[in-house]
Amino acid sequence: MVEGTMMDVPLTLKYLLERARTLFPRSEIVSRAADKALHRSTFGDLYPRACKLANALTRLGVKPGDRVATLCWNHTRHVEAYLAVPCMGAVLHTLNLRLHPSDLTYIAGHAGDSVVIVDSSLLPLLDKFVKDVPSIRHVIVVADGGAAPAGTLDYEALLAAEEGSFPFPDLAEGTPAAICYTSGTTGHPKGVVYTHRSTMLHTLAVCMADTMGIRGQDTLLPVVPMFHVNAWGIPFAALLTGAKLVFAGPHLDPEGLLDLMASERVTFAAGVPTIWLGILAHLDREPRRWDLGRLERMVVGGSAAPPSMIDGFSRRHGITVMHAWGMTETSPIGTTAKLRPIHDDLDDEQKLAVRSSQGYAAPLVETRSRGEDGRVLPWDGKSMGELEVRGPWVAGAYLGGEGKDRFTDDGWFRTGDVVTIDADGYVRICDRTKDVIKSGGEWISSVELENALMSHAAVLEAAVFAGRHPKWDERPIAAVVWKPGAKATEAELRAHLKGKFASFWEPDLFIEVEAIPKTSTGKFLKTKLRELYGDRLLDR
Ligand code: ADP
Repeated sequence: MVEGTMMDVPLTLKYLLERARTLFPRSEIVSRAADKALHRSTFGDLYPRACKLANALTRLGVKPGDRVATLCWNHTRHVEAYLAVPCMGAVLHTLNLRLHPSDLTYIAGHAGDSVVIVDSSLLPLLDKFVKDVPSIRHVIVVADGGAAPAGTLDYEALLAAEEGSFPFPDLAEGTPAAICYTSGTTGHPKGVVYTHRSTMLHTLAVCMADTMGIRGQDTLLPVVPMFHVNAWGIPFAALLTGAKLVFAGPHLDPEGLLDLMASERVTFAAGVPTIWLGILAHLDREPRRWDLGRLERMVVGGSAAPPSMIDGFSRRHGITVMHAWGMTETSPIGTTAKLRPIHDDLDDEQKLAVRSSQGYAAPLVETRSRGEDGRVLPWDGKSMGELEVRGPWVAGAYLGGEGKDRFTDDGWFRTGDVVTIDADGYVRICDRTKDVIKSGGEWISSVELENALMSHAAVLEAAVFAGRHPKWDERPIAAVVWKPGAKATEAELRAHLKGKFASFWEPDLFIEVEAIPKTSTGKFLKTKLRELYGDRLLDR
């Protein structure tokens, strides 16, 4: 018998804090404030400020295990909370500022938040729910030069009164570090509690070349909000690698983002497809206005990235789009769509098809799919079933033991996504189970139809959803948003789809809309489309 002889070093976020302080004190963090001014600081500044915040929270009575919420845009102070709160043994709860106050009441109450750190610009939102959450004892306002209102505490004043050192405890790696709630789009929001260990392993994973490939040379712009699955782990990856961080604050319009990418020489950006569709349209219109010479790659995920967009960025602007799939429950990186040597001989179109899939499992993650009869389906690229995943940064339960039906008896998480998996392990999402269109018993993939419609030159965005139908139960309806100054006829759109799908996939109806309704994280809100237009086929 021999025993392992290696150190059993717990994987905790304190390591990131120390690493950033000792190795990367000169790495920069740039935040654009509400007034558009750029605020510059360094990882060296971060450490004493995180200590001050931990001291201040301790003075306010925050103890290990207590939940400290943030209601903030992406900025430096939010990173301070990302580190101080988990490293002192408390639990960071990032509230989604796009949710309805009633959802926030529920979520903050359910998590039992005791303190909220809030941007002054978001105080009107906080005011709508804070009184309904009795567990909240203190409100700390990031006032950005203004004054914190009576009854609240000023973030900077609190920090100014504290020491720049803190005895961060040596925590067990299974200690809770952060909580995110699933959005209410698929039912009641449920809490996912990340541990220090799951966060550290996920951080390592996003730095691998076949996932996001984050490295010390990068300048990172997470457009994805810090309340959306910890900005996909990008702030933590910056601290691990020493990469520069750039935050857009509340300014997420395409022009503002392009200005920031050019002026800060961003090399890597990440966000949901709707953001990039807007940016691509701007770049196409004014290709020479912004110097994006340093921008190598963008990670797009959260909903399906249309192949036409992936192709447009690389062909017309030399920017590589990497498509990734993930969920709140998967921290979020689950699969990423990188090419491998087996694809070397494919032509450009075939390569694009691989890069437009959701990709294959990130290291340490496993994927499988199961049919309606419960059988595990073959990896044949054809059989459609529900995607199930497991791995060290995949939720094994929800907070409070809710949603037990989402976890299988043999230890997998049921994603609610309908997929095919091909022989090389590449996953293709056809739909979410709740969005699937079932026409006369046959499944129609709304995602594929949307991708095809968005490859039409006049279409900016397209969402395909189930309309109720007297004969077929459900039939597809397409809602289309035109690019500025462009338009196409219904016949042109139909001709564009012809031959790409079985004829019964063709939408029964096309509707022009000003904008597709979006969820709190910028995804197409199909429940709203069904509510507004779902009966249109019944009246005809
Ligand atoms: P919600 O969408 O409910 O706000 P999440 O952000 O956790 O919550 O979303 C996870 C879901 O987003 C996945 O189950 C999947 O349906 C969808 N999704 C994420 N990435 C992709 C992708 N690359 N392609 C298609 N769908 C995606």
